[in-house]
Amino acid sequence: MKNIILFGPPGVGKGTQSKKLSEHFNLIHLSTGDIFRKELKNKTQLGKEAKSYMDKGELVPDSIVINMIKGYINEHAAANGFIFDGFPRTTAQAKSLDKMMAESSQSISGMIAITANEEELINRLQKRAKIEGRQDDTDIHIIRNRLKIYNTETAIVKDYYKKQNKYFEINGIGDIDEVFERLLSIISKL
Ligand code: ADP
Repeated sequence: MKNIILFGPPGVGKGTQSKKLSEHFNLIHLSTGDIFRKELKNKTQLGKEAKSYMDKGELVPDSIVINMIKGYINEHAAANGFIFDGFPRTTAQAKSLDKMMAESSQSISGMIAITANEEELINRLQKRAKIEGRQDDTDIHIIRNRLKIYNTETAIVKDYYKKQNKYFEINGIGDIDEVFERLLSIISKL
């Protein structure tokens, strides 16, 4: 059983690679951003609550995110493992995730960060805006706020996994299959 966290700034390719990995290893792809967008589309209370933060490019409060994730993990108790995409984004979320894993006698196999420079990220997000029409990709001020919050609040989560010798990094520049191969070579050692 493997439980992998894909980490990195907005636009780096976590979603694309998570999908490929979840198919390759038969894991559940758990993207907090996708879940929030789905809740929003279905006009649920959770979706409405998350929207006010997402629209500004800010983090949804930990308590909301953690409760939601708990529900999903419990729903998939029989799964082969998870690919976490966009979670954890704070150290409090990382600590809660460890607890949830331990409750089902599981653990995180590793965190893999995908890296790219900011110019590349902004280009990719602006391209995605044209294809997917996500509101938080369309406005450059929101994009810049998401990158700022990644750097000031989220990037530090890597230290939590470094301390456990579970942190790895790969270069996210290259075509989709190249990046995928780099991920596979790390995962094969986990
Ligand atoms: P990206 O990684 O491209 O910014 P996501 O789809 O992962 O996009 O997330 C979109 C938005 O959803 C974030 O800007 C944030 O508002 C919210 N969000 C997603 N995951 C989390 C999380 N783990 N903690 C707090 N907020 C989150």
